[in-house]
Amino acid sequence: MNLKSVAWGNIAVRNKARTLLEKSNALADGPVRMTRVLEIINLSYSEFNPDRETQSILGAISHSDGCIYINADEPAERKHMILSHEIGHALLHPAENHIDFKSATQEHLDDDEKLKEREANVFAYELALPYPEFAIIYKLYGGDEVKIAEHFLVSVVDVKKRIKFLQGQIDSKIIENFL
Ligand SMILES: [Zn+2]
Repeated sequence: MNLKSVAWGNIAVRNKARTLLEKSNALADGPVRMTRVLEIINLSYSEFNPDRETQSILGAISHSDGCIYINADEPAERKHMILSHEIGHALLHPAENHIDFKSATQEHLDDDEKLKEREANVFAYELALPYPEFAIIYKLYGGDEVKIAEHFLVSVVDVKKRIKFLQGQIDSKIIENFL
């Protein structure tokens, strides 16, 4: 069965991430405490050592196992963001097992799958790099992307993407104040 999913919309996705952060008390002066988020949604986390069959997999969610699996070979800052992304799939697309592959392009995905990836990404950035905390840290480090990345345990590429996303989303007056 392949039901078409209903689009969540950016604001609904971001609100869902925000609610979860606050409910699980996962906000910290440093990386978001993903273990607290996992506790509250009743999922566990496990790393797998990739073999020839699984080397192209970044992460996956299995609802029957109640577990999110992450490729152990990925660097720590990538694991943190992949986990955040898989939590997004778990909450936004419930009861659907899901696998994310390393391939950079999304050309092989159909429209429904592309939509789900976009939703999981919006969620992941809001959870791992929450606003307004992100803007406060941005200001504290004077926009130093390397320091911001270390603070939140994400890659510099993800910090750059987050800045770009926020600049497109937030009222320009607020950007002047924070970014
Ligand atoms: Zn995904």
